[in-house]
Amino acid sequence: PGLSSSQVRSTFLEFFRSRGHQLVPSAPVRPRGDPSLLFVNAGMNQFKPLLLGTAPPRSMLASLRRAANSQKCVRAGGKHNDLQDVGRDLTHLSFFEMLGSWSFGDYFKEEACRMAWTLLTEYYGISADRLYVSYFGGNPESGLPADEETRNIWLEIGVPPARLLPFDMKQNFWEMGPGGPCGPCSEIHYDHLGGRDAAHLVNADCPEVVEVWNLVFMQYNREADLCLQPLPLLSVDTGMGLERLVSVLQGTLSTYNTDLFTPLLEEIHQRSAVPPYRGRTGAADGDRTDMAYRVVADHVRTLSVCVADGVHPGMSGAELVLRRILRRALRFCVEVLRAPQGTLAALVPTVAHTLGDVYPELHREADRIADVINDGEAHFLSSLQRGSRLILRTLNTKNYKDGFFPASVVWSLHRNLGFPLDLVDLMLEERGVQVDQDGLQRLISESQSGGQTGVQSQVLDVLSLAELQRLRVPHTDDSLKYQYSLQRDRY
Ligand code: ATP
Ligand code: MG
Ligand code: MG
Ligand code: MG
Repeated sequence: PGLSSSQVRSTFLEFFRSRGHQLVPSAPVRPRGDPSLLFVNAGMNQFKPLLLGTAPPRSMLASLRRAANSQKCVRAGGKHNDLQDVGRDLTHLSFFEMLGSWSFGDYFKEEACRMAWTLLTEYYGISADRLYVSYFGGNPESGLPADEETRNIWLEIGVPPARLLPFDMKQNFWEMGPGGPCGPCSEIHYDHLGGRDAAHLVNADCPEVVEVWNLVFMQYNREADLCLQPLPLLSVDTGMGLERLVSVLQGTLSTYNTDLFTPLLEEIHQRSAVPPYRGRTGAADGDRTDMAYRVVADHVRTLSVCVADGVHPGMSGAELVLRRILRRALRFCVEVLRAPQGTLAALVPTVAHTLGDVYPELHREADRIADVINDGEAHFLSSLQRGSRLILRTLNTKNYKDGFFPASVVWSLHRNLGFPLDLVDLMLEERGVQVDQDGLQRLISESQSGGQTGVQSQVLDVLSLAELQRLRVPHTDDSLKYQYSLQRDRY
């Protein structure tokens, strides 16, 4: 029950439109003219010149005072990278929609807080005693004072002192990337349980209390030398995750149990050989299936949106990230969900069905997206089979005793068979095995410094040559020109 996701989205936009905000379309997820970004990671990205005061005078952009939109965001690289959480938890997606509202030198903190509170409690009908509010508690090292002004505004609005919590730079000083506009922020969190004090669960990575809305008070620019300079205007930049808000309003802890995802999960079930999605998280066998459902549903949305906006799986930058996302999705489809070839691409129409009314490019580009996914699948499937057998053989070999999976085999999977390193981690984690990370780091740095590594001979220490030949692990593959700098930070 509750509002549908499209009602939730349109209620937000209408609320701000009727308060003088101009509705602006979502920018494509491929950033335009900002080399500091791999993907658009927040609604404010397209307004950065306006916040910095560098928008061309008399342009459409420069004339904006108040704006609102629903922005396609991808957090899979750079400062905002959530890929390691995707599938494991219920609230971090690699692609999500951010409902945003802005004041560019117009109103500031008080009006922003009041509007947010009114929308949540009166329009969406969320009970105020389920909400907690965090604010910036100051940071003496950077000479930044606590944001008492915001605390007082919330007190006046009627938030009890026990629900008003100060946090440090990490949580309550928002920054877009290594540089750019930034400022103290105040966030609204929802307590799914209610009935007891949950203040200690705010910002504690606990599924019962979830961050929903961030109100950033843009006051500074982080310069190249990392110093903070005051911005020409005091601006407000807010962002609320649509999927999280919808889960709150549809009465579930999980963004996946909302109408944004259930059609996709159902379609995956129809096409796979496993029981329906049950929503479990954890380490047990059945939970692995549920995680695969989430990874595949999340990743096919991200792939669809990215390809529609012109980012294709490739060998560097954002394109390399997308290639990893594609390969992860394919592996979970094939090996965990045991779905036939072509399944991932066959989910694209369902993505278009759930999001295409808002982002029509998904309808327009659906065939092309499916082709790109099928192409990637054709390239990866045989390597995937060989790699999985290589992992099994290595796990069964008697040389493997010390509890750590040999780095040389991981490197060979990566270098010769095109396995994303984090995918190998995930595959081994399912078996309760850890990679020899120190050894792996050594191999990565050796390859970066260009020296011949003799990795092949190290793999031979683990498996016999005959075994390797039987698994048809190629010795070199010059076609794989990886960007090593990106490999190192593993996304
Ligand atoms: P979290 O602490 O949960 O990682 P965040 O503080 O990194 O979130 P912000 O940068 O403040 O997120 O973004 C504003 C809002 O966007 C968040 O309050 C949340 O509702 C939503 N959001 C952020 N990251 C994600 C994600 N990976 N998936 C879905 N929604 C997200
Ligand atoms: Mg985050
Ligand atoms: Mg946060
Ligand atoms: Mg936040």
